[in-house]
Amino acid sequence: MKTKITELLGIEHPVIQGGMQWVSRAELASAVSEAGGLGIITALTQASPDDLIAEIRRTRAMTDKPFAVNLTLLPTLKPVPYGDYVDAMLSENITIVETAGRSPEEFMPRFLDRGVKVIHKCTSVRHGLKAQNMGCAAVSVDGFECAGHPGEDDIPGLVLLPAAADAITIPIIASGGFADGRGLAAALCLGAEGINMGTRFLATQEAPVHENVKKALVAADEHQSAVILRTLRNSARIYKNSVAREIIALESRGNITIEELAPLVSGARGRAVYETGDIEAGVWSAGMVAGLIHDIPSVKELISRIVRDAEGILKQRSAVI
Ligand code: NAD
Repeated sequence: MKTKITELLGIEHPVIQGGMQWVSRAELASAVSEAGGLGIITALTQASPDDLIAEIRRTRAMTDKPFAVNLTLLPTLKPVPYGDYVDAMLSENITIVETAGRSPEEFMPRFLDRGVKVIHKCTSVRHGLKAQNMGCAAVSVDGFECAGHPGEDDIPGLVLLPAAADAITIPIIASGGFADGRGLAAALCLGAEGINMGTRFLATQEAPVHENVKKALVAADEHQSAVILRTLRNSARIYKNSVAREIIALESRGNITIEELAPLVSGARGRAVYETGDIEAGVWSAGMVAGLIHDIPSVKELISRIVRDAEGILKQRSAVI
């Protein structure tokens, strides 16, 4: 498949791996890039900019294909030296960056100066237009189905993607709710040039997380996610476990502060889930798409299957005309 996204990023298949905190490390990103997609490592998974440099080098040792670094700009419990992480990426000559959360405006001059292609992940048409105006090369448009932060507008991909395609002229990557060839075929028909998948890649052999997390996704159906932090206007879709239920109960009482929620929502605590396999140990991101995940394939198997199925669907369905 040749699309504006495969051309722009120099990749074989229009399949991009999501920037997942604690998960998107060298092992997964290199496997995705080696399989012809675009692998992404997340900057903030690394404890310091120096650790990010080491992770970039580790990824390069595993693949010579293109990969990107994600920089998530959202509220955090501890201050993050974002500028230093940007320095680290630029010092390693990273050529593709995915930004997410708030606007990357303050970093754009430096990225553009160095010829970096910036993909901004956004959850509304207006933010996509803003990203286009500030010189982003592409936008990843994230529907309400997505894992992680869906924004506050609650517009699912089936409406958000064509609305974005009507307004935005730079290439669009469809994100949130994609797991298989049907999704890729649909995304192309809705006006996108490729798909971004997080939760689906979490349940692959190469994802560097405990097997229990992958099995939990296979066992889950589409009801198994919950949205937390709505009351703080920083909504996050996570796997619905006992911690999620506790957070929702606290939020429903009203007037809750981040300080009161911090012991429950803390990413440091959620990290233990991936490391120990105790899926009740903290919060961990998962999308509605868990309901479409039924196996734990290798990354290569998954990408090949998705592309093959999408091609088959697009050819077969053209017969209705
Ligand atoms: P963290 O431990 O600092 O914070 C935990 C959660 O609380 C996060 O969702 C964060 O956005 C939220 N939060 C923190 N301070 C807040 C405030 N003042 N008001 C409202 N909400 C607040 O975060 P972390 O788990 O170490 O993650 C680091 C960054 O990555 C955060 O910006 C987080 O939002 C983001 N993240 C991304 C993904 C993803 O898959 N893309 C998943 C988890 C977290």
